[in-house]
Amino acid sequence: MDQTRDLIKKQNFNAAYSYYQVTRNFISELESLDDEYLNRRAEDLKMLSDMVLKSLLGDEKVTSKVNNPSIVIAEKIDPSQIAEINQTNLLGIITTEGGVTDHSSIIAKALGIPYMLGVKNVVNIVRNGDKIILDSKNKCIHINPEKEISQKFEKEILKEKSINKNQLIKSKYEAITNSGKKVDIMANVGSLDDAVQAKRFGADGIGLLRTELCFLESYKMPDEKSQLELYSKILNNLPEKTHTLRLIDFGSDKKVSYLPLQNEENPALGQRALRLGFSYYDTLLKPQIRAFLKLSKDFNIKILCPMITNSNDLDKIITAIHKEQKELNQQGEVIEKLPPIGIMVEVPNVALNPNDFISKADFFSFGTNDLAQFLMAADRTNKNVSHYIESGNQSVLKLIRNFALEVISKKKEISICGELASNINYLNEFIDIGISSLSMPPMLIPKIKEEIRSLK
Ligand code: PEP
Ligand code: MG
Repeated sequence: MDQTRDLIKKQNFNAAYSYYQVTRNFISELESLDDEYLNRRAEDLKMLSDMVLKSLLGDEKVTSKVNNPSIVIAEKIDPSQIAEINQTNLLGIITTEGGVTDHSSIIAKALGIPYMLGVKNVVNIVRNGDKIILDSKNKCIHINPEKEISQKFEKEILKEKSINKNQLIKSKYEAITNSGKKVDIMANVGSLDDAVQAKRFGADGIGLLRTELCFLESYKMPDEKSQLELYSKILNNLPEKTHTLRLIDFGSDKKVSYLPLQNEENPALGQRALRLGFSYYDTLLKPQIRAFLKLSKDFNIKILCPMITNSNDLDKIITAIHKEQKELNQQGEVIEKLPPIGIMVEVPNVALNPNDFISKADFFSFGTNDLAQFLMAADRTNKNVSHYIESGNQSVLKLIRNFALEVISKKKEISICGELASNINYLNEFIDIGISSLSMPPMLIPKIKEEIRSLK
């Protein structure tokens, strides 16, 4: 208490921040001791400290405090917290925890916000008001750098801007290799702003609309009418293209206050996506399916089903979509033809058994983020095991190749919409496999199109 009071009086820090600093120091001390029993007490202290902090902060959102252009430093940041921050003030994010393919990383990437995770002890080292250079390319941060270092980076930024400008000019044209192979380069979108970016960066369509990300900030699940309005606005950015809209994929690291998600031990393997959708069918799936079907009258859309695990899952969702079509028609809507219905290939059981799904699904989209986490038994939100995910790329590719051998001969399309899609090391291989489209954060599209144009 004395140290906390001191910080408040002498440094003018607020109570929560001061208390946090003081307890963090004690926690670090305990963690560094060479005694397992005392190390564990760090956990106790952390829990107590969190309780006091919660009580000091009440319901106030820390994120609403980002009032000036800032780099946000935190132990951990949730997708919903990023969504809450006024984006114009968010210059970068540095955290201790997190995973390279978790949804906070995905959202930051889509927003073009540099994000570095796994920076040990950063909350204790950096002080409010410090000047920071976040060099995510070299995985390095500079705190209060010398003038020469700042100047070097300013030059680097200018150079990068000029390369980006050149790539942007050409990005509205198709991506075709020198031998004439064409790949659609699509956008991963999770908000109206992302859709605006998709158009700006020359996307050939939306390859993955993560609908759940559009509702992270809502206080309740939007009804059919508001969903229809939002999706129309999103698609109207590229009205002539074909877009893939994914049914809701809440759960795991995408939590919202209006869903009574249970505290599961392994949420990535629990009640998420359609599993959750069917538990709350009338509020989650029904209005969304109806909105998609109405939308299909005005736009070229495909419906993508997340986390399909076995053919029963697929049967169940296809039946539900048919049921909603029938009901809409009975209500006078006239929806004659259903949009193509495809599945995410993100559960190893699906990746290993293409023949169970070929006759039922119209297209396939590889979700390499979840697929890699399940394949490598490595939580995608946990930085301590992220090296496993990275070391699994060749195994994921093997699964894609084997799947494609079965599927492409039956004239069904395969795309990739996980983070692997924008990894330039594998573009050649994707094309060789016969992948028809790659979907990625809008900002990366110009660069990837340029890379494809340089391939044989
Ligand atoms: C994936 O799992 O690869 C994917 C594209 O979906 P999400 O990242 O939203 O889980
Ligand atoms: Mg997924």
